[in-house]
Amino acid sequence: MPDIIVIGGGPAGMMAAGRAASLGADVWLLEKNPSLGRKLLLTGQGRCNITNNLDARQFITDCGPGAKFLHGALARFSTREAVDFFERLGLELKLERGGRYFPESDDSHDVLRALERFLRDEGVKVLKGKKAERAERGNGCFRIFAGRQTFQAGRLVIAAGGLSFPATGSTGDGYLLAAALGHTIVPTLPTDVPLGVREDFVKELQGLSLRNVELRFGQGSSKAVFFGEMLFTHFGVSGPIVLDASRVIGPWLEHGPVDCVLDLKPALSAEKLDERLKRDIQSRGRKNFRNFLKEFMPSTMIPVFAGQCGIDPVMAVNQTTAGQRRTMIGLLKGIRFTVTGLRGFEEAVATAGGVATAEVDPRTMESKITPGLFFCGEVLDLDGPCGGYNLQIAWSTGFTAGTGAAAKA
Ligand SMILES: Cc1cc2nc3c(=O)[nH]c(=O)nc-3n(C[C@H](O)[C@H](O)[C@H](O)COP(=O)(O)OP(=O)(O)OC[C@H]3O[C@@H](n4cnc5c(N)ncnc54)[C@H](O)[C@@H]3O)c2cc1C
Repeated sequence: MPDIIVIGGGPAGMMAAGRAASLGADVWLLEKNPSLGRKLLLTGQGRCNITNNLDARQFITDCGPGAKFLHGALARFSTREAVDFFERLGLELKLERGGRYFPESDDSHDVLRALERFLRDEGVKVLKGKKAERAERGNGCFRIFAGRQTFQAGRLVIAAGGLSFPATGSTGDGYLLAAALGHTIVPTLPTDVPLGVREDFVKELQGLSLRNVELRFGQGSSKAVFFGEMLFTHFGVSGPIVLDASRVIGPWLEHGPVDCVLDLKPALSAEKLDERLKRDIQSRGRKNFRNFLKEFMPSTMIPVFAGQCGIDPVMAVNQTTAGQRRTMIGLLKGIRFTVTGLRGFEEAVATAGGVATAEVDPRTMESKITPGLFFCGEVLDLDGPCGGYNLQIAWSTGFTAGTGAAAKA
């Protein structure tokens, strides 16, 4: 019987297992897939945005109010410590735009290989193809049932992930195991996820990526604004600012659709845009409307935009009336559409909700309900925006849970 059993061989579980073993504990890691870190391999579009360069305060602010729970874990294992940790494992990292760290090789396999070396060097026993189906506690130890086998350990770490990208193995088992051991599960929602849109015109724009645009979301008195890059898809919208927005508007969507306004020229006020249009119309008067628009937007967008403007695309631009110019400005600063829902867990980067953090000690990740039980990673009610936050949550809580479990072992 090992000192500690860790359920789940994702980033959080590998970190917890390796850390506990490095402190002298005998650790077994159970993973239901035939290989470790399936989701890790998909991260950052296969490049793995391993962490970022933020200090704990900014990190927590960006993740939202529930992330205050992370103070202890980030103090024990900060973003800087994550960088040092991987560099010590021989993984070269590079810092990119927006303070994001990636492996120098741009290959998430190298991150997984580094973690597997860590597990091997620290002497963790890895058992693949072992799905923990049930766990119970009695006589001072945990019994974990996996198929016909039963495992026992004095300490148990649940690192079975959430519900996002279930094909990688994260199918919510961690919530069932935690609930059976007395924990409350905060209702889950897909997050960092694309959005479905009602209007059909988005389909005509699928594949179009826009930079430096603003999306303004609203529902009743609730408002939120995001600036950056977005993408149109066959069902709606995606891309960095849309995924970030999903974290805010996900709960609003429970009450109904959310209005969205796309500003193609957020850096220009309507007045400045009017001046520019007048100037350009004067200097390029004989151009037709369609060609004229090329200076204001990507060509794939022109048929949709011209259609919404109601202006004949072959009309000479100097024929536009003041009213038509106002319509153009209105649309450049505000293409409207309706967000009808979040896309599903199949497309979500993370899971909102999970094991209630109020029932977990933030200094050790130990359950306040079942002594000897620890949690880390996405199974907890914690999530961050895109940009290395979610993996850092896995590293920090994994390290803390590993430390806590080893101290008790
Ligand atoms: C497409 C995509 C891209 C992403 N890109 C990034 C990025 O670039 N940067 C970033 O910071 N975050 C990114 N994330 C988020 C990040 O991958 C997760 O936050 C992270 O993987 C969570 O780690 P975890 O160990 O808690 O859970 P998981 O990675 O989900 O691992 C849980 C493991 O537990 C196993 N398991 C589940 N149930 C059982 C059971 N009953 N018995 C045994 N084993 C079990 C699973 O098979 C799985 O291997 C991305 C996510 C997705 C889906």
